[in-house]
Amino acid sequence: MERLPFIAGNWKMNKTVGEALDLIRELKTVISGVKEVEVAVAPPFTALDAVRKELEGSSIRLAAQNLYWEEKGAFTGEISPPMLKEVGCHYVIIGHSERRQFFGESDETVNRRINAALAQGLKVIFCIGEILKEREERKTFSLIERQMEGGLKGLSGKEMRDMVIAYEPVWAIGTGKTATPEQAEEVHRFIRGKLERLYSKAVSEEIRIQYGGSVTPDSIKGLMNQPNIDGALVGGASLRAESFSKIVRFKEM
Ligand code: PEP
Repeated sequence: MERLPFIAGNWKMNKTVGEALDLIRELKTVISGVKEVEVAVAPPFTALDAVRKELEGSSIRLAAQNLYWEEKGAFTGEISPPMLKEVGCHYVIIGHSERRQFFGESDETVNRRINAALAQGLKVIFCIGEILKEREERKTFSLIERQMEGGLKGLSGKEMRDMVIAYEPVWAIGTGKTATPEQAEEVHRFIRGKLERLYSKAVSEEIRIQYGGSVTPDSIKGLMNQPNIDGALVGGASLRAESFSKIVRFKEM
């Protein structure tokens, strides 16, 4: 089945409003005319509104990096799904390994966030992936299975159509160590098989699975040649228009 490739840039805690505007203006120019690839950027919360205005008329989608599951109330420092909808977010990243590692996210809180996002009509980029120790102890598949069962608990096959899964081996994030295309494909194939067991063949074939972990213009083509890799979630290389646009233009390489 043909799945539309999806390249998303996670800017993490980078870019002031001014810097975000500079980057998005440059990006719009350098990726104009790219067809048959969906592109999204996830600026920090403070820059979402400004970037949304700059994106008017562009096909680049806006994504947030996280949300909280309540709609409003006494939750100091948190951002709700309706707030993200209001500033024009189409996607939200949930369960990123940095959230799990530094901010105590668990499979249960990830599941609550996913449910809240979908209920408000946001599409979700759901991140999963093992740390180095788990890979060395050959626990990658059992960990992926646990994260999928926990994060997707209670979601229907229909809701799954608004989901993208990002496989991000934690040992490859920000380290310069990309998984080989074969290593990534092995896990992507496992994830698709698990989706089939949890839902159906149709759902498993429809869902896009991105790879994330030190993706660069040099590594993207080999990754995208794999049958079960449908795109990339890009951190460091998404902070410069030149490198991100080369990744987006992987078909031209
Ligand atoms: C990420 O944080 O989602 C990521 C993949 O980062 P990097 O590309 O910098 O490894």
